[in-house]
Amino acid sequence: MTGRSARRGPDDTGISTRVNGPARPGAVKGWCPGAWRPMMSGDGLVVRVRPRLARIDAAQAAGLADLSEAFGSGIVELTRRGNLQLRGVGEDGHGALLGGLAELGLLDPDPDWEARRNILSAPDWVAGDATERLSQDLAGRLGELPDLPAKFGMVVDAGPKRRLDGAPGDIRIERAASGVIVRADGCDTGVPVENDTAIGTVVALARWFAAHRGEARRMAQLLATTPLSDRFTGVPPAPNGMPEGTLGGVAFGQMEAGLLRTLARGALRITPWRMVLLEGGGALPEGLLPPDDPLLAIDACPGAPFCTQATVETRWLARTLAGRAPSVHVSGCAKGCARSDPADVTLTGRDGAFDLVIRGRAGDTPLRRGLAPKEVPDAL
Ligand code: SF4
Repeated sequence: MTGRSARRGPDDTGISTRVNGPARPGAVKGWCPGAWRPMMSGDGLVVRVRPRLARIDAAQAAGLADLSEAFGSGIVELTRRGNLQLRGVGEDGHGALLGGLAELGLLDPDPDWEARRNILSAPDWVAGDATERLSQDLAGRLGELPDLPAKFGMVVDAGPKRRLDGAPGDIRIERAASGVIVRADGCDTGVPVENDTAIGTVVALARWFAAHRGEARRMAQLLATTPLSDRFTGVPPAPNGMPEGTLGGVAFGQMEAGLLRTLARGALRITPWRMVLLEGGGALPEGLLPPDDPLLAIDACPGAPFCTQATVETRWLARTLAGRAPSVHVSGCAKGCARSDPADVTLTGRDGAFDLVIRGRAGDTPLRRGLAPKEVPDAL
């Protein structure tokens, strides 16, 4: 299976701090939308669904397709934290949509629990392995965690092979050469744990973060200035590799509900690579791109008119640039929602034009400024 950077994906866009009801365009940014607290975007509400254990069964997949068409625009997105988003939901349909998600078993009991259940599990877990067991243990002990910043998340990647290197997460339960470690993101090593000490160590590390974080919102950000306690270090994680099996993606993580319904012939594992892994394998279904398709190597946020922060369209340009560089990021504005890592080529929208950044992020100092969209391909 072709390897690729995992730190990419669409549109985990931060939103306002409003607690009840959807966040508004132009509001203060800083937390992640969910199903209970969706984000208002240029095309309506974005309702994010967090699958448990990176899995939706066939009925849930078909049900999500139905809900997307009944209450939204029929567009479903895969995010870089392994979530699903229904776009274009009307405010008046949000309550009924929540009811539908609850019937499918895809709704947390309340908004606070939903916000806490920020767990990314390796998608190729099998019944009884360490990823399955520890993901469930962690989900059952979320109440022991301190208050954490909204985007602070956990990764459980403890199966026989490590899969989620580079996928976003602040505290990571990972496979090491021998056994399992708990590792702080931003530190090269973690502390060895046993089955019965792993979650307690996660809680202790989360508390260490909460006690030391100051203004930091992410673990790696804190570790850039504050040394980690020795009790959380010592052993490096095992090498990483992509899972085997039938893995396919959609450009920019965006698919129509009809494709999701087609895929609902069996259970799906939702990955953080804008791809799904078909449980049970088989041929790659029509509509899914193979992992080495150049379109899957491009990151592009929705841009205008879907995001109110954008002054440029993004995805037509992204399609034009497919294959032009190993990594390309087209961002509607300097926030860079679609990719947090540097890319070989980044185009950042500003006042209806693009700034060109080479080997950097959306907000970095550009090499060229103010390129008209049609000038961009030649400027590369
Ligand atoms: S335009 Fe800016 S705020 Fe909107 S999705 Fe793109 S990067 Fe995020």
